[in-house]
Amino acid sequence: PDADAGTDADADAATGPAVRTPLPAATPVGYPRIGPDRELKKAEEAYWAGRIDRTEFAARVRTLRGATRARLAGLGLTAAASVPETFSLYDQVLDAALAVGIVPDRFAGVLGTDGTVDLDGYFALARGTADQPPLEMTKWFDTNYHYLVPEIGPDTDLHVASTQVVDLFRESLADGAGEGAGTRPVLVGPLSLLLLAKAQDGAPEGFDPLDRLDEVVAVYGEILRLLHETGASWVQLDEPALAADQRIDPGTLASLLERAEGRLTTAEARPQILVTTPYGGIGDLLPALLATGVEAVHLDLTRGDLPSVDQLAGVGGTRILAGLVEGRSVWRTELPTAAARLRLLRERTAAAGGDADAVAVSTSVSLQHVPHTLADETDLPADLLATLAFADEKIGELVALAGGDIEPGSADGPRSVPRTFAGVRRDEVRGRAAALTRSDLERSAFEVRAAAQQSVLGLPVLPTTTIGSFPQVASVRRARADHRAGRLDDAGYEQAMREEIGRVIDVQEELGLDVLVHGEPERNDMVQYFAEHLDGFATTRNGWVQSYGSRCTRPSILFGDVARPEPITVAWSQYAQSLTDKPVKGILTGPVTILAWSFVRDDQPLGETADQVALALRDEIADLETAGLGIVQVDEPALRELLPLRAADQEAYLRWSVEAFRLATSGAADATQIHTHLCYSEFNEVVDAIDALGADVTSIEAARSRGEILEALDPERFSRGIGPGVWDIHSPRVPATEEIRDQLAAALQRVGEGRLWANPDCGLKTRGYEETRASLRNLVEAARTVRETA
Ligand code: GLN
Ligand code: ZN
Repeated sequence: PDADAGTDADADAATGPAVRTPLPAATPVGYPRIGPDRELKKAEEAYWAGRIDRTEFAARVRTLRGATRARLAGLGLTAAASVPETFSLYDQVLDAALAVGIVPDRFAGVLGTDGTVDLDGYFALARGTADQPPLEMTKWFDTNYHYLVPEIGPDTDLHVASTQVVDLFRESLADGAGEGAGTRPVLVGPLSLLLLAKAQDGAPEGFDPLDRLDEVVAVYGEILRLLHETGASWVQLDEPALAADQRIDPGTLASLLERAEGRLTTAEARPQILVTTPYGGIGDLLPALLATGVEAVHLDLTRGDLPSVDQLAGVGGTRILAGLVEGRSVWRTELPTAAARLRLLRERTAAAGGDADAVAVSTSVSLQHVPHTLADETDLPADLLATLAFADEKIGELVALAGGDIEPGSADGPRSVPRTFAGVRRDEVRGRAAALTRSDLERSAFEVRAAAQQSVLGLPVLPTTTIGSFPQVASVRRARADHRAGRLDDAGYEQAMREEIGRVIDVQEELGLDVLVHGEPERNDMVQYFAEHLDGFATTRNGWVQSYGSRCTRPSILFGDVARPEPITVAWSQYAQSLTDKPVKGILTGPVTILAWSFVRDDQPLGETADQVALALRDEIADLETAGLGIVQVDEPALRELLPLRAADQEAYLRWSVEAFRLATSGAADATQIHTHLCYSEFNEVVDAIDALGADVTSIEAARSRGEILEALDPERFSRGIGPGVWDIHSPRVPATEEIRDQLAAALQRVGEGRLWANPDCGLKTRGYEETRASLRNLVEAARTVRETA
């Protein structure tokens, strides 16, 4: 670029002094917004339930934002624009969509006469209304956060439908944030917004959201003007899409960058622009990004490599924000390594003709993926605690790195503080993993297994079953909480769980299901439950992370070698089996899902950790067999989730993840039927990997994308038992018998008799008993009808 940012700023001086504010030396990409005590969640749930009114809700979230700004200032983010304004009432993608007016026609009613969306309109888009389902929700890159998918058409009226980003900046001025100069407004950038969006229903064939790029950019320009008028010195545009393979090739992506960010820089009245590129390296897109003329560029230097001098050739006066602190892990950064890498980057920037002193430090991604603070974690062992950092502690690391007091070590040194305390390495676990051979991943041929299983199980054609959990009624949740708090002793707890299991078995027998489950009443969460019963994991007291909207999860920390001190699920499953003559299936969570929904050690390849979890599950399956369970389901709903963002990395991932599943399940006898459950609709992309899992029966989420699923169930590619979900359990709606029957009949045509199972989409734990009974009754009835006519 011709532009040296300093010169530009001087030229713009007449439009406002704020423009000269330098990029802060230390600043994260983003910060958690749920609040250290989940204030956002609590306020929202109270508002939605009508317990507080709009005024009270607004006051509570206002207090939370003020407290967040004060907290960050207290951590050392005092300079102008050093606090990213990443608060959101629900989702940052929805916020950006509304900023530029991407409201689908089906929600036209939420737009007021002035073309803006108010609080209830906002929540209507996020949560749906009586007659409109909400915007679709899907995974945000390879994280456990879910965003709302914007829907856009060729005629969507693009305009500023929400000034939230401006309002929050103004509010930060009132709070005196950034030495009175305010925070740094943040929006998902135009290119990522449209790459994450989908064409709204009814859009003409061939319409691509990117067709609207120029008009969307024009509205971003309008927002930038408003921010400038309000006094913002910087604006942050997040362009994570640059770090992932996209439906368009890299060359096209580079030219679209020029059309998006490049065009924004030509405006006169605007804040300086920082473009972030979290979630991975952007490789050869860096020169194109530098060529846009934005004043600062952030790079994820934990997933991505340090850029070379060549890649930095166009740096000119562009500030580099070095994402050296991992924002999505809980490990404490090895600061000497980070300092050495920072120094190297500064040297390369200088060698490329840039300003080495203008290289600032940041996180790789927003800290929204980690809990607020370690301050509450008084139960964690001290030696583990000393190696951890949550959001606040990571901000401390940024401040320390920027302060220049860290003596640089080796740039190739460990990225996180080494963990060497007891339990991190266990010889018996390592020895067992080292002795594994290919034969540990093999079972007999499917035909042999299928015959052995049928002779034991004697199942009808089109067997009916469920995915595992039954409604988690209040009494069950209370018993678990009381037991945890010591108000209910072990015997009382066991009694309560047995009662619930008895009830679940009774319901299933009465409905006439073929393969029963115990209902999982003892599990708070399908991953945490196993983490609590395996060595190598720690659980936090208050380590909540936003999953979407008001939903939070509390991931466990997998820090050491994994071992199973004693059987975990066996007693419950065995008890359930003792109550019925029908087969009960044991339910376990698979190795990949356990990893995906935990914070996992970074000191060995994920595949090695997955194999350790797999060995523990293998032992559990052996114990279930001994206890008389003939069917075991190993859930892997997260298999698709960890799929790397770059196609080139996917094969290696699928290899180790498939092998871990096979390791967990291949010790089972031929007569033991292994099921797996996967809950996502992008089945097509990974169908070969799912086939390679080798499960005897696979149940999948299909209720929302039936056509595609049936298409993907090509008998040539996928040849064993399959249960495409016929009831969308994410909604309280009871599917009619005829509806289920038609779905089953269509599926039967596609996959053939003898392979098809009838089951819901997923577990029933969030449903009520009434709708569960009614829906399962229809499901059993539909299966019977199809069976009779087949
Ligand atoms: N067995 C689990 C349940 O039924 C599966 C949940 C899931 O796939 N997310 O709750
Ligand atoms: Zn599921």
